Amino acid sequence: MTVENCLFCGIAAGKIPGTIIHQDQDVIAFADINPQAPQHILLIPRRHIASMVDLTAEDGPILAALFTTAAKLAHDLGIGETGYRFVTNVGPDSGQSVFHLHFHLLGGRKMGWPPFPPSSHHGTR
Ligand code: AMP
Ligand code: ZN
Repeated sequence: MTVENCLFCGIAAGKIPGTIIHQDQDVIAFADINPQAPQHILLIPRRHIASMVDLTAEDGPILAALFTTAAKLAHDLGIGETGYRFVTNVGPDSGQSVFHLHFHLLGGRKMGWPPFPPSSHHGTR
C-alpha cells in the first residue's frame, strides 16, 4: 500500500468522498462508512503512516494531536460525559483492513469488555 493508492490518503486529499468532521494541517476526522456505534469517527494523520508499528519517537506531536482532537470531538459530539473508546487495530488478529494509521472514536452506546465476541475461546486460536 502506497500513498498513491491509499484509501485514507484519498479521503484526506478530497479525492475520495467522505463525511469530514474535522480537519487541520495534521489531522482529519471523518465518519466511518460502516458505523458500529451511534458515533463512530475515524481520526487519521494527514501524512501516510501505515500503522502504529511505523511510528517513531518523532511522531509524538502527531499522536498528541490525534488524542487531543479526539477528546475535543467527543465533547462536541455529546459523548464526553457518557464515555467512549479510542482504539487502533494492528495486524491480522485485530482485523486491521486499511493500512493508513487510524483511530476509531466510538461512543453513544454501552460497550463490552473485552472487545472480542463472547463466543470466542479464551486464549485459543
Ligand atoms: P480497521 O478494520 O481498523 O482497519 O478499520 C477500517 C475502518 O475503515 C472500518 O471501520 C471501515 O468501516 C472503515 N472504512 C472503510 N472504507 C471507508 C470509507 N470509504 N470511508 C469511511 N470509512 C471507511
Ligand atoms: Zn495513506
